[in-house]
Amino acid sequence: MGSERIKLLRKEPFHSTPKLTLQNKYRKYLEQANIEKEFVIHYQPQIDLASGEIVGMEALLRWNQPTLGVISPTQFIPLAEETGHIHALSEWVLEQACRQNKQFQEDGYQELKVAVNISTVFLQNDHFIECVQRVLDQTQLDPRFLELELTESFFIQNVGEATDKLNQLRAMGVRVALDDFGKGYSSLHYLKHLSIDTLKIDREFVKELSQNRYDRYISTTIINLAHHLNMNVVAEGVETVEQLEFLKSKSCNGIQGYLFSRPVLAADFVKLLA
Ligand code: C2E
Ligand code: CA
Ligand code: CA
Ligand code: CA
Repeated sequence: MGSERIKLLRKEPFHSTPKLTLQNKYRKYLEQANIEKEFVIHYQPQIDLASGEIVGMEALLRWNQPTLGVISPTQFIPLAEETGHIHALSEWVLEQACRQNKQFQEDGYQELKVAVNISTVFLQNDHFIECVQRVLDQTQLDPRFLELELTESFFIQNVGEATDKLNQLRAMGVRVALDDFGKGYSSLHYLKHLSIDTLKIDREFVKELSQNRYDRYISTTIINLAHHLNMNVVAEGVETVEQLEFLKSKSCNGIQGYLFSRPVLAADFVKLLA
């Protein structure tokens, strides 16, 4: 009895109360949210380091809540996963991103790959594969211009299911990236069993490339590992010329980051393409 009580007390200390209230507020607004009106996608260019050209864009979701203002995806995605809203939201993002990419092609811009973040909760939905296929059919986007960014948690939780879904995606012609590589509890075990096109080096390792030699060793190792496994490697969060030069010298294939551009609205993205 005694220890039970201590646990309960520890779970909800006084200082966490305001945060819980805010989360409940977000949850309530999420229930009522009109996806079309309140959510918007920003696109961040991905640059090929060999050519210096924009070769892709990552779709990054923003929630413009009428009362609370702009809420970061790191705050609302976990809540949406909890409430189940993630499914409708993910389907919407996928469709918007594919439609936008198709539109860029129709408007005569260079062919780009669009990368869409896929929550592990959505991946585990029984209708996930169907949903991707339906979006491709509806938007008429060639599947090789769609890359799904998955995280390690999916592969670690259930290798069997992950292999199965990955194979189905590959059969459809869709590309797959492993996001935030090296962050969290990595397991190298699944890498050799799964066909992944792109490894994304987490921003944590890129941030201090100039100051921290361990981050340089780790980034270099990830780049070499990716190349040995026949994968592309993209570094995220590149903010300085020093970081860019280092990654280039190690033959990293691509970069994303504020150095080149922040995530922007589609209307502003075309200015980068022009
Ligand atoms: P992520 O997939 O790792 O995306 C990269 C994050 O780093 C983005 O934050 C991006 O705006 C930011 N970033 C890009 N370049 C730089 C840079 O040079 N410096 C710094 N400091 N930051 C940079 P954002 O847009 O706030 O997204 C945060 C996370 O939310 C994403 O991390 C992703 O995990 C998740 N997310 C975003 N959109 C979606 C979505 O549509 N679906 C799902 N499931 N998750 C999403
Ligand atoms: Ca990502
Ligand atoms: Ca990241
Ligand atoms: Ca992520």
